[in-house]
Amino acid sequence: MNPQAKGESVFLHTGRRDFLKLLGAVAITAAAPGEVYALSARGTAATPVKNRSPLVANSFYALPLGAVKPQGWLARQLRIQANGLSGHLDETWADVGPNSGWLGGTGESWERGPYFLDGLVPLAYQLDDARLKAKAQKYIDWTLSSQQASGMFGPRSNDDWWPRMVMLKVLTQYEEATGDPRVIPLMSRYFNYQLAALPTRPLRDWGKFRWQDEVLSVVWLYNRTGDPNLLKLAHLLHDQGYDWQAEIADFHYKQRITPEFIKLNSGGGLSDVALATHGVNNGMAVKTGPVWAMFSGAAADRDAAAEMLRVLDRYHGLPNGMFSCDEHLAGLNPSQGSELCTVVELMFSLEQSLAISGDALLGDRLEKVAFNALPGTFTDDMWAHQYNQEPNQVECSLHREPWTTDGPESNLFGLDPNFGCCAANFHQGWPKFAATLWMASHDDGLAAVAYAPSSVEAMLGETPVRITETTDYPFRNRVQISIDAARPTAFPLRLRIPAWSEGTSIRVNGKSVTAQAGSFTNIARTWKAGDEVEIAFAMKPRVTRWFQNSVAIDRGSLVFSLPVKEDWLKLRDRGMTADWQVYPASEWNYALNVDEKTAPSLNVVETAVVESPFTVANPPVKLEVMGRKLPSWVAEDGVAKPVPAGPIASSAAEDKLTLVPYAAAKLRITAFPQLKT
Ligand SMILES: [Zn+2]
Repeated sequence: MNPQAKGESVFLHTGRRDFLKLLGAVAITAAAPGEVYALSARGTAATPVKNRSPLVANSFYALPLGAVKPQGWLARQLRIQANGLSGHLDETWADVGPNSGWLGGTGESWERGPYFLDGLVPLAYQLDDARLKAKAQKYIDWTLSSQQASGMFGPRSNDDWWPRMVMLKVLTQYEEATGDPRVIPLMSRYFNYQLAALPTRPLRDWGKFRWQDEVLSVVWLYNRTGDPNLLKLAHLLHDQGYDWQAEIADFHYKQRITPEFIKLNSGGGLSDVALATHGVNNGMAVKTGPVWAMFSGAAADRDAAAEMLRVLDRYHGLPNGMFSCDEHLAGLNPSQGSELCTVVELMFSLEQSLAISGDALLGDRLEKVAFNALPGTFTDDMWAHQYNQEPNQVECSLHREPWTTDGPESNLFGLDPNFGCCAANFHQGWPKFAATLWMASHDDGLAAVAYAPSSVEAMLGETPVRITETTDYPFRNRVQISIDAARPTAFPLRLRIPAWSEGTSIRVNGKSVTAQAGSFTNIARTWKAGDEVEIAFAMKPRVTRWFQNSVAIDRGSLVFSLPVKEDWLKLRDRGMTADWQVYPASEWNYALNVDEKTAPSLNVVETAVVESPFTVANPPVKLEVMGRKLPSWVAEDGVAKPVPAGPIASSAAEDKLTLVPYAAAKLRITAFPQLKT
């Protein structure tokens, strides 16, 4: 069981693990979680477990949960999340409450308990929050102590493979944070059971379309135990699972999907075409190629995440980093929505795909989703969220249009608008993003794959190294990286240079280093305590083009929107939270006088980065742009009509408009007609 015994260059966080071994499994179960797990929360320097032969090496490996700590505005954002619905969902929503099947009860026994934990566990351990750890521990203890003799685990009321795929992700994160010795034996027994059972009880519906997520957990265990049966299991999942790469290679879903097209009301469950065009499935599937590249070593597999995004963007891309999915693929109109589950699942896919492939552009996309679509679909206090968000979202009220299949509550802010999956699943977004800002590289160095205030501790060879990243990125262009090594030590430090940052300045102790946009800059040297790296990204505003030749304006990773004045109207109380409609109280129908040439000279106004940087009251950065009203562009039943094709003329007076980060404006226009001048 010990990977080091087989001569692999693998370091587990041995100090923590030995301590837990001394305690033994019984003590872990019996002790108050806060007491036992405080040690891991202090963060022993850790090195990740690398891919074991015959798996192909990754470019990067995620560090064990707890090695990366959020700081600055990101730490405050995680605290807002913990103080909001994430820290209280079980107290106010029966689906994950005391009668949950994942606590041995008779309530919801499918995906919602595991979804909740998939975010609660990393949130609890990143914040080192004893209250949240204790909440998570109840579900985990039930899961670990109720495995059947066959190897099956989880609620006995269903034998669906799918919800267990989510719980396996939970258990791997939990084991990294705690070293709980019960996890690996449970997973080993379950995978043996599944290997024997799959030939006669194959993957179906959700599990068939999401098989790649289970392969990640199979790989996680294989790298720790070396059991060759796990490779057989991975191949079986691959063989029974949906072939996403074949779909993308011959892509048929180029239009807005309709209920008729997917035969939604014909009974008998969801058809394969419904599952193939389902937004969340697509967001999860982005990682499929890279996950399989660990087995095949094929460049086409490794690059398949970028290829899938290229195809989805071409037919369904939106300016907030998402593709449309409300909840099936919905075309290019920026008045269509994207489901919150897809936002967080796409982020997880990008994090995993980037680790395997080392493709810097996936980091650009990850930041775009994390800094725009993710916070843009929550209230500032994270007590309410939407099911669907729209780039051009001028009203959040009860309406059936324009969704492909979703119901009339889909863009309300609330506890569980439209359907409860997002209420259970959203929690993983911020904590997993924070945990993967820094990764270990295959050659025993560290890599900054996305930027936000943070610190990281890792063992590099025999030397513990701590790096502190001080920044207000993405609201500012400067990042300061301070290195603290126990003794001078040679390792490669890789820095992702976004494709939009032509002319990035990097200085190591004041000395300039060459950087190339759209790739990782590798600084290989002997690092010592007190070394400083200063990065200044080139963050001029720039125009991107969307549906009907519309323009959106980005600065760095942030997308900017015209905020529409908001009237919040409570629809009803929902336990500790409430459901809200939001009505517009100002005009939004403008064409912008901007193009690729003029955008870089737009006026940028920077103000203080406050407690919560994604609020419309105090956005840390604004853009000023001239525009004219376009009276013919109106809303119908609360939905902005498709953005008129531009350039388009207007005889209205010229106005100076102030744009704010997308996520700050809960009512907004993001894709504008270009003004004809
Ligand atoms: Zn959802």
